[in-house]
Amino acid sequence: MTARRVVVVGGGFAGLHLVRRLEGLLRPGEVDLTLVDRNNFHLFTPLLYQVATGELPPHAIAYPLRVPLARAGHRFVRAEVTGVDVAARLVRTSAGDLPYDHVVVVPGAVPNDRGIPGVAEHALQVKWLSDGRALRHRILSTFERAATEPDRARRRDLLSFVIVGAGPVGIELAASMRDLMDHTLRAIYPSIDMRRDPSITVIDGADRVLPTMDRRLSAIAARRMAALRVNVLLGTFVSEVGPDAVRTKAGTTAAARTVVWAGGVRPDPIVAALDVPKAEDGRLLVDGAFRVAGRDDVLSFGDAAAFMQEGRPLPQLAQVAVLQAPAAARNLAHLVRGEGVETFRYHRKGDLIALGRTSAGAEFARFGDVVVGGVFAWTVWRANYLTQLVGVRNRGTLLFEWLLSYLSRRIVTDIQ
Ligand SMILES: Cc1cc2nc3c(=O)[nH]c(=O)nc-3n(C[C@H](O)[C@H](O)[C@H](O)COP(=O)(O)OP(=O)(O)OC[C@H]3O[C@@H](n4cnc5c(N)ncnc54)[C@H](O)[C@@H]3O)c2cc1C
Repeated sequence: MTARRVVVVGGGFAGLHLVRRLEGLLRPGEVDLTLVDRNNFHLFTPLLYQVATGELPPHAIAYPLRVPLARAGHRFVRAEVTGVDVAARLVRTSAGDLPYDHVVVVPGAVPNDRGIPGVAEHALQVKWLSDGRALRHRILSTFERAATEPDRARRRDLLSFVIVGAGPVGIELAASMRDLMDHTLRAIYPSIDMRRDPSITVIDGADRVLPTMDRRLSAIAARRMAALRVNVLLGTFVSEVGPDAVRTKAGTTAAARTVVWAGGVRPDPIVAALDVPKAEDGRLLVDGAFRVAGRDDVLSFGDAAAFMQEGRPLPQLAQVAVLQAPAAARNLAHLVRGEGVETFRYHRKGDLIALGRTSAGAEFARFGDVVVGGVFAWTVWRANYLTQLVGVRNRGTLLFEWLLSYLSRRIVTDIQ
């Protein structure tokens, strides 16, 4: 039997864990698998904000995709995917066309500026590794400028940071930025009054922080934001981002020399261009076996797909993609062999939210839906990410860098 050609588009949580789960499921020579991604690494996005705030170096959260692919005897192609032609069964890439018998479309999602003027020009985003580095550079270079600014009002203006989006990304980033200022920058920028000069504001249209999480976690996070002197503006919709301020729909203006856009995601352009049934938010509608448009040759899961359960699409979370991957791998193996498929059901584990140096919030959905905060939740949070990260080298680096950042100081060399 000739090997079936499988192309996986994207080496994120969905693509990487699919490939890992296929090991042991496939017989030798059964498939000829190629994974294509624009980067030769998998990015562990939940810790990206720690690159932005100098807690981790970029390489700690980037895992080389070639390692698991070479180990399993598969092929990796570093290229930009420009489209998937489902009629011709071709993945179009900057390195040429890749023909397939089965394609797994898992390119994730991209930041969504919701068409708000000025976001693209003036705001920084937190999605790719380059964003984490760019934000760290912005923070550190802003402090360098402020350190030589003798006028207090101008210094405060320079050090005005606004994060749009009070979801997990915005909240974890705000807490970590404040820690960076209080525990590392305070000692090395003596000309800056670290308690009064820098301001951090989080803006969201929702009526609570972490609007998609358990209300008890929102309450823990709100208390922590207050303790960390983070201003939280809820029920507030940003209408425009300028070079030094954000404007709201209510007509107010907030000083903002640095704006970080953490305002959600929209489908990747590859997904948007596919002419197949989509959910309201543009994600690919998949059936219980991850098939797109009921086709045996096109699968999707993770952020790119709308997997409906109880009338709602599953949330766009790494947790979802990682839990879907084993079932997607089994279904891919079944489809390659022309066998029947199985239906996936999502059982969420709960949520974790980091809230600074020794604080976090944790909801354990599988253990009586208990919610805890403080140091215990922080320990669970750290242990969870140490085990979730793939690769011994990455885990070792993570542990070592966390210890250094905690016991010594964060990374404050402004290397771009
Ligand atoms: C800052 C941040 C923090 C987050 N924190 C959490 C968290 O704490 N917990 C949680 O559960 N979820 C979190 N998420 C969400 C989580 O990252 C996503 O749900 C998850 O990454 C989805 O996995 P995926 O494989 O579908 O997509 P991704 O992980 O985004 O992977 C998509 C891959 O496709 C590649 N790709 C995309 N387009 C192309 C193209 N045209 N050509 C070539 N390659 C392409 C990308 O390079 C990428 O490697 C966070 C997201 C962000 C942005």
